[in-house]
Amino acid sequence: MPADRLDTRQSHALFARATALMPGGVNSPVRAFRSVGGEPFFAQRAQGPYLFDVDGNRYIDYVGSWGPMIVGHNHPAVLDAVIRAARDGLSFGVPNPLEVTMAETLARLVPSCEMVRMVNSGTEATLSAIRLARGATGRSRIVKFEGCYHGHGDSFLVKAGSGALTFGVPTSPGVPKALADLTLTLPYNDFDAATALFDACGDDIAGLIIEPVVGNANCLPPRAGFLQHLRALCTQHGTVLIFDEVMTGFRVALGGAQARYGVTPDLTTFGKIIGGGMPVGAYGGRRELMAQIAPSGPIYQAGTLSGNPVAMAAGLAMLELIQAPGFHAALEANTNALCDGLEAAARAAGVPFTTNRVGGMFGLFFSGEQVDTYAQAIACNSAAFNRFFHAMLQRGVYLAPSAFEAGFLSSAHDEDVIATTLAAAREAFAAAAG
Ligand code: PMP
Repeated sequence: MPADRLDTRQSHALFARATALMPGGVNSPVRAFRSVGGEPFFAQRAQGPYLFDVDGNRYIDYVGSWGPMIVGHNHPAVLDAVIRAARDGLSFGVPNPLEVTMAETLARLVPSCEMVRMVNSGTEATLSAIRLARGATGRSRIVKFEGCYHGHGDSFLVKAGSGALTFGVPTSPGVPKALADLTLTLPYNDFDAATALFDACGDDIAGLIIEPVVGNANCLPPRAGFLQHLRALCTQHGTVLIFDEVMTGFRVALGGAQARYGVTPDLTTFGKIIGGGMPVGAYGGRRELMAQIAPSGPIYQAGTLSGNPVAMAAGLAMLELIQAPGFHAALEANTNALCDGLEAAARAAGVPFTTNRVGGMFGLFFSGEQVDTYAQAIACNSAAFNRFFHAMLQRGVYLAPSAFEAGFLSSAHDEDVIATTLAAAREAFAAAAG
């Protein structure tokens, strides 16, 4: 299909109405397509690997609502669970049995989570975890990594990834300097920088938070031994090690990145998949730490809708599906097939291009070299990515609308879907070459 043929008039009209009343026309920044240029399409519905827009166009979706839709959109088992739960009531404000099942499921699948607390987003999970780290240690400083995104809590909007990186405001106005000064940043995958920082002030650091596989500065896997190195530094200095597995949890392995790389954090944050597409987050970890959360301990954290029964039902149904034998092996094989195919298509078109993949997530880099640092990720040719993005969109393939976001597969992305994607890519790389 030649470029610029999609009819998107309904989306265009909606976007005009949206921009009149909503900042940037959206409720979350990267959705606005500012980075890649052009306008977003508005979804009408979604099924399996596909999104359908309000103009009736169909797209193979490699964003998957930014990670949750690991079994494909609108899976019947998840939908049934939601409908059944909704019939019983949308929110109770007293405990419900599904919360207990969810806690038991998370603790079983991620054994470092001896206790868990449900919240309503990844942002809530990370800011609660960091409060716990500060409260438990009596220290104020935290450490994060350049290009990592942990939601929009004040302490994290310092050299942040995702939309913050995409729009060039990695350190947000509105974050008080006094608070930002307590957030120390390190380069990801740099062993010596981490050692030097902990040598200098390790005993003042309450918590270190990291995306164990970075998914918010494109996709960067940890170098061999890097997470182990951080574990050792944190243990030595009494710092709480927090793995932000909002993205990697249940995606890079059933037990998340901590299972894949064999490193046990003190606290873990979750979101996305555990809500099955509903707004959910969670944090969990060592019993002795988690017991310090109110009401069993003094560190306050609460939520009117936390543990919502419909959200729990959706998440539990999804977690059930991904425990099927071979689920993650198949997801990984398909992710590899996609990435190998894209690399071959780029080579054939003479485009410098490489990929990273971990389990069911991947990164696309318009670069001649393998990428495993933030500096390399931001040095890639984002103009070429933007041309490729639009050429793929015109051919019915929706990639993350930014050169700095990871992509996601679902179990509904089968061989045929990948073959269709690669056929589009063979044409799109020619467009990307400019
Ligand atoms: N942590 C990570 C690693 C994330 O990728 C995100 C969101 N993409 C968050 C935290 C924040 O989650 P939410 O958008 O649900 O607040």
